[in-house]
Amino acid sequence: METKNKIKQERRMGCHVSASGGLLSAVSRAQELGVNTIQLFGASPVQWRAALPNAEEAVLFQKKCAQAGITHVFLHAPYLINITSPKEALRNSSKQLLSRHTEIAEAIGAQGVIFHVGSRGDMDKKESIHIVIKTIQDILDAIPHGILIMENTAGAGNLVGDTLEELSEIYTGVHNKRFGICIDTAHAFASGMISSYEKKDIDKFVSLFESTIGLDAWWAIHLNDSKVSAGSKKDRHENIGEGHIGKEGLQNFIMHKKIQHIPLILEVPGFDGKGPDKKNLDIIKLLVI
Ligand SMILES: [Zn+2]
Repeated sequence: METKNKIKQERRMGCHVSASGGLLSAVSRAQELGVNTIQLFGASPVQWRAALPNAEEAVLFQKKCAQAGITHVFLHAPYLINITSPKEALRNSSKQLLSRHTEIAEAIGAQGVIFHVGSRGDMDKKESIHIVIKTIQDILDAIPHGILIMENTAGAGNLVGDTLEELSEIYTGVHNKRFGICIDTAHAFASGMISSYEKKDIDKFVSLFESTIGLDAWWAIHLNDSKVSAGSKKDRHENIGEGHIGKEGLQNFIMHKKIQHIPLILEVPGFDGKGPDKKNLDIIKLLVI
């Protein structure tokens, strides 16, 4: 029993929280939800401009997080970003914006910026991977401490990063300790990367991740149920237990013995449609046995 309680206490889990009203408001919301891990937007997710927080605000944010017992903070990059667009101008502005968000993460002491690579459109796959690797390397080289975390995608419209092979190819190519991976359970299901959340299939996935990328590189889990069935390629998050993966499948995943140290971040629609809520978090707490 003692061991079980210890796992529950130490498990890093939380959710995406709104930062409307500023960074400090995000901490207050997290405190209300009682989480030790958060994800937020470092600036507007739909704007090409992003200001660095002022030094005072950045320090206060870290202080408030520490007081609230929030040990893990992740930023999510804006949806506008597409570092592998066939359009060069879009690629360049995406690179600048991703770089700026990495600076914001660094300034507020966040673990890193979770981002989607984007869609390559009609660009050749090999060329696209090459561009992605070079862009990530350039961003990391220009910043002393910032960390980038690539998220797997659901796969529609030639999105890059929907297979373990692609993630592995990019990860190996970038070859930098400040680069990691986030696995989104709903995206993995929709892309077919994990087409079943039965124990044996999760075991297969974790082993493959370990042998091709290495578990040290796996820094975050976006924990979402899926509104759509396996292989549908659609990105539709669902509340925990209400979707096609289900509670048991998600429990099999988060309780896999090799990945229990990885922070869990909910990005679910919420039972009242207002984003991740206490009800979803409470369900997860019951699943962590
Ligand atoms: Zn996600």
